[in-house]
Amino acid sequence: AFSALAQPGLQRLRAYDPGLDLVALRQAHPGLVELGSNENALGPSPAAVAAAVAALDDAHRYPDPIGGGLKRALAAHHGVSPGQLMLGNGSHELLMMLGQTFAGPGLDVLASQFGFAVYALAARAAGADLVQAPALPAGHAMARGHDLDAMAAAVGPRTRLVYLANPNNPTGTWVPATALEAFLARLPPTVLVVVDEAYMEYATEPGLVSAVGLLARFENLVVTRTFSKAHGLAGLRLGYLLAAPGLVAVLERLRESFNVNGPALAAGEAALADTGHVERVRQANASEREALADALRARELAVSPSQTNFLLVGFGADAAAVEQGLVARGVVPRPMAGYGLPGCLRITVGLRDQNRKLLQALDEVLA
Ligand code: PMP
Repeated sequence: AFSALAQPGLQRLRAYDPGLDLVALRQAHPGLVELGSNENALGPSPAAVAAAVAALDDAHRYPDPIGGGLKRALAAHHGVSPGQLMLGNGSHELLMMLGQTFAGPGLDVLASQFGFAVYALAARAAGADLVQAPALPAGHAMARGHDLDAMAAAVGPRTRLVYLANPNNPTGTWVPATALEAFLARLPPTVLVVVDEAYMEYATEPGLVSAVGLLARFENLVVTRTFSKAHGLAGLRLGYLLAAPGLVAVLERLRESFNVNGPALAAGEAALADTGHVERVRQANASEREALADALRARELAVSPSQTNFLLVGFGADAAAVEQGLVARGVVPRPMAGYGLPGCLRITVGLRDQNRKLLQALDEVLA
């Protein structure tokens, strides 16, 4: 009955359901291989953990309300000014705030089919309409990836926000920086384009580079990043965005004071400084990603090209049974039915030993 009292955009929405009880599964399977949430297999930088622990000494104090230290470090890292940065309680919070600030009833939010699930939520929470452009078709080298021509064609007078992840979750696919630049050049400056780069640190393709370099040319561009993936700090909830100072100033009106906690701010600075750790994460992921993709393809499974720390794998009509079989053997993938990909499972690239356990369990299930 309360559903009818919710604002119209939320009435037909269901709350996020994690599906599995991970706490119970960890008890049932010591050494559970968790490949469902695209977490960092190597974990965070030890220096980041130490910084977070040290920050707990100040747990009775409110954290720095503007996160000045971390913003200065990020500004130096990306070659932007601190006024172009905003910090969030995970990038999820920032994606939602962008919707609440710039979208609303009577306006359209555009995303791609198979785009990240939070974009639809951000549109609905703002009372805006979600428009989904069709993804690239089967047979295309980047099948299910973003079709930037289709997205540009879907932009209309009501379009206020465009969300696209590069590389994308859950497909793993990507668009080259040159194509993104051409896409931005086609749009009017009143259409804000949010490029979600949660997985950008994992990219190894030379043509796939950050859109941060395009900020100087496009004032309507927003780039979001996270410490949850390559920095391995998902549990501390820390993300940030980069945009024109004027756009950041408008977003700041809505930001809750102290939205980022002290241990997260401290860990973020230390993680950013530990470039060696990020490089080890990148290299380990890149080699394991290729090895795992090869091993899956050798089993005649369809694996989407990926520039992330996960693979989208096709199992056809067997997907649900394969998922259950893997979970029963202590390996947790992510089912994709909620994304309109019922025949697929998304599998995070783990450590070599975890990937070996995955393949072993898969061979048993498929036997
Ligand atoms: N964007 C994408 C594409 C993601 O996959 C995720 C996490 N799954 C996020 C944003 C949100 O990450 P966080 O809130 O942890 O920064």
